[in-house]
Amino acid sequence: MVAALSQIPVDALVGAGLFAPAVCRRLVVKIGSSLLVTAEGQVRRAWLADLVAALAARRAQGQQILVVSSGAVALGARRLKLAKGGRASLEDAQAAAAVGQIELAQVYAELFAGHGVQAAQMLLTLDDLEDRRRYLNVRATADRLVEAGAVPVINENDTVATAEIRFGDNDRLAARVGQAVEADGVILLSDIDGLYTGDPKRDPDATLIPLVPVLTPEIEAMAGGTTGMGSGGMVSKLQAARIAASGGCHMAIISGKVDHPLARFESQGIGTVFPAPEAAPVARKRWLAGRLTVAGTLVIDDGAVTALRQGRSLLPAGVRAVSGGFQRGDVVDIAGPDGRVVARGLAGYPSDEAVRLCGRKSHEIEAVLGYAPRAAMIHRDDLVML
Ligand code: GLU
Repeated sequence: MVAALSQIPVDALVGAGLFAPAVCRRLVVKIGSSLLVTAEGQVRRAWLADLVAALAARRAQGQQILVVSSGAVALGARRLKLAKGGRASLEDAQAAAAVGQIELAQVYAELFAGHGVQAAQMLLTLDDLEDRRRYLNVRATADRLVEAGAVPVINENDTVATAEIRFGDNDRLAARVGQAVEADGVILLSDIDGLYTGDPKRDPDATLIPLVPVLTPEIEAMAGGTTGMGSGGMVSKLQAARIAASGGCHMAIISGKVDHPLARFESQGIGTVFPAPEAAPVARKRWLAGRLTVAGTLVIDDGAVTALRQGRSLLPAGVRAVSGGFQRGDVVDIAGPDGRVVARGLAGYPSDEAVRLCGRKSHEIEAVLGYAPRAAMIHRDDLVML
């Protein structure tokens, strides 16, 4: 099965409405807390052993696998007897993660070693991937590990991450890692089959959506709230899908509650696939599109939205309002008149100057600021559509 599928290019399969993890040269597999940890706070060892066996077999066939694993907070909370699964306060979550992570790492190391595969731990904070230099560093380390045959097991470094600078959920972390390492695919193993038209627990008519070619506001409206032990619900999974797509990675949400989840997905196709757009942006733009934090927002008019969609730069004339405090080169969101973010870019002017240039023609820049270093508020090379 794996050998046959691996002859087919991944894009051809996705084009046909399929996405087979087996054809990915580099694959990120995210494992959620509720799959990995029982309500009593124990690792579901037999379940994980099966999954690790499947991943190790793929690794042996030459596929490069990266695991993003949750579970540290849920495990550690039980060991420390903390309320609310360790999520009552940031300090609880940090302490729980410190205890749970060491156990998690040990379990992965043992299980992979049983198949002759070296596991490697990588603990990342949001900033490690938001800062371009650190992002490149993370990517170089992950590259080196997978090329040397190891399987990185990645989690957020919850013990040092503070509330303001956290991913908070591993769905987005997995997508961002997928983007950083230029994975072909990201699989989110979840306690649910995929995205449904409604909440399947409450709505008997809710049906599974097998393919989401584009993330529309209607699709986003179908995502319910957060459930289960982990912190990511469908909302964070859709945000992950957006990050993955902007990074040129295909993504799928599939159930991990079945035997051999990856093989079942390959043979039966049960899950929700989010294909990457055909033309993925260049590497620097991928990093920009996947950023989670921005320093400010420029609200632009309809004409400017159209111009950006045609690949043009953002000129001051199309900017209606500026919010936030930013320096030149900081990352800012660009929103249409309805407030919906349509693009993201590196500011060509600091926020105090951007405010003064709102609605002005480019030839007026010198008169307004006393100098005119550049015509565009954001140059098209520094801008990515979302
Ligand atoms: N990083 C958290 C942990 O290891 C999990 C985040 C999530 O639930 O997605 O427990």
